[in-house]
Amino acid sequence: MADEMESHGTSADAVTTEFDAVIVGAGLSGVYMLHRLRELGLTARVLEAGTDVGGTWYWNRYPGARCDTESMFYSYSWPEDLREEWTWSSRYPEQHEIQGYISHVTERFDLRRDMQFETRVTRAAFDETAKRWTIETDGPDTFSARFCIMATGCITKPNLPDWEGVDSFEGETYHTARWPKDDVDFTGKSVAVIGTGSTGIQAIPMIAARAEELTVFQRTPNFSIPAWNGPLDPRHERKIKDNYDKYWDMARWSSTGLMFEIRERSLFDDSEEEREREFERRWAQGGFSFLFAYSDILTDRKANEEVAEFVRNKIRSRVDDPEVAETLCPRSHPFATTRLCVDTDYYETYNRDNVTLIDLRETPIEAVTPSGLSTTDAQFNVDAIVFATGFDNMTGALFSIDIRGRSGEALKEKWAAGPRTYLGIGTAGFPNLFTITGPGSPSVISNMMTSIEQHVEWVADCLEHLTSEGVETIEPRVEAEDDWVEHVNKVANGTLFPEADSWYTGANIPGKARIFTPYVGGVGTYRKKCDEVAAMGYDGFVLA
Ligand code: NAP
Repeated sequence: MADEMESHGTSADAVTTEFDAVIVGAGLSGVYMLHRLRELGLTARVLEAGTDVGGTWYWNRYPGARCDTESMFYSYSWPEDLREEWTWSSRYPEQHEIQGYISHVTERFDLRRDMQFETRVTRAAFDETAKRWTIETDGPDTFSARFCIMATGCITKPNLPDWEGVDSFEGETYHTARWPKDDVDFTGKSVAVIGTGSTGIQAIPMIAARAEELTVFQRTPNFSIPAWNGPLDPRHERKIKDNYDKYWDMARWSSTGLMFEIRERSLFDDSEEEREREFERRWAQGGFSFLFAYSDILTDRKANEEVAEFVRNKIRSRVDDPEVAETLCPRSHPFATTRLCVDTDYYETYNRDNVTLIDLRETPIEAVTPSGLSTTDAQFNVDAIVFATGFDNMTGALFSIDIRGRSGEALKEKWAAGPRTYLGIGTAGFPNLFTITGPGSPSVISNMMTSIEQHVEWVADCLEHLTSEGVETIEPRVEAEDDWVEHVNKVANGTLFPEADSWYTGANIPGKARIFTPYVGGVGTYRKKCDEVAAMGYDGFVLA
């Protein structure tokens, strides 16, 4: 039965509010989760630290921020009239447009009235007697809920290098994931950008176009494929909209959650000329399609190296200075075992007179100084430093909240050696806690939109089942969780992914347990497993 009531807490203005569910985060997951719970007649409150909806698209508003999943598949698949009324302007959606879309959906379904902004969740603890979660915030409000749903995102907590003197810099500093809402004008300024991941690769060309001087500090080069972005072709849009259900169904059961032409063919089944032709064809298509030219690119070292060398040659052809080109060529990891980047004019930016590339592998940064950055080789005086240094991914947002399960067990302690989940949805000892696109699910290795929808729908169906059957709590069995963690690792170990020092393994955060977190077994395979678990009465979970 739906419950929503307020009771007065201990301090004069503290109020405890009771709901069936508290959803943490108002990004794409939180918005859809709220909508589904409303449909079930459950009461829910979304708690969000930002001032508006958007999640990652609210925080990451740096110049050039754009999704590298194509617009037509970076939209909710429901309902039909929503799809018809929304039109994206370009092939890949820009940050402000995605935020506009999420805002539009929020208004369209009148979701805002169940959302509370500028409210950061600090603690969530399971009360074993009441069988409810107590959710504390940085404000006076405390919430009590049967279900606690973490829609906190995978790429949420910014990573700032802990360099000597990092607070001593007297110029402007920015982290791309905390970009100001007002325009930042770099005209006439000398700017340093640290980091060349997906974010840096998008921001660098935009900053270079405005700044007087740009110095890019690169530790590890990444592979990037051109986006060939442009206005969305209305004929393409019509075709997708007219066949939306068919395409979405294909995406849901595909390996990636995206609509790519995937060739189930080894690279070595083609002659060298055929391979070259296929690579060129995929290069001309742009974006992630390149990854699916052959089925063994991510499993066979030799096949992978051939693709890697093709992309390195493209870098060499795009960059005028051969020495700079070589510095930009990745060699420390197999192709696409760190997140593949998608760019617009990234490599060409290094042909500009106002751009300099510094290789931190040769000359590491030693300190931040009041006037800039000093490496082992030189001092760089700049007006502004942009940290495009990524995130404490997958677990960072969850660990920022003091999450306590049965007997006060801390999630952070339970997961000290790496996250342990069953299906990436729940973890033993933490009843009625759900993690949308949590570690151990396809999440960041798939189209986030497909994976978000799948998790939200699975959780909503589960809550409906529990409510109708009068079940108080659900949590994974330890053995099911252990088997799943082992399976996730086994599947990852059958690929080249674990060879890279990537954020997928936590290697980007000093001291973080190194374990490959996303499930690479495929979106369709994973969906089938989740559906079977539900059909078998939530096999692997304890329902009490
Ligand atoms: P990232 O991929 O983790 O890249 C961070 C960059 O900062 C790396 O080049 C890293 O070097 C560098 N760095 C970090 N700490 C450093 C240090 N102490 N010294 C020197 N360099 C340091 O982070 P991101 O670029 O923000 O992207 C994160 C993820 O967000 C992406 O992989 C993607 O999934 C998502 N994203 C998506 C889009 C999109 O279009 N959909 C756009 C942007 C981001 P190392 O590699 O050597 O660690």
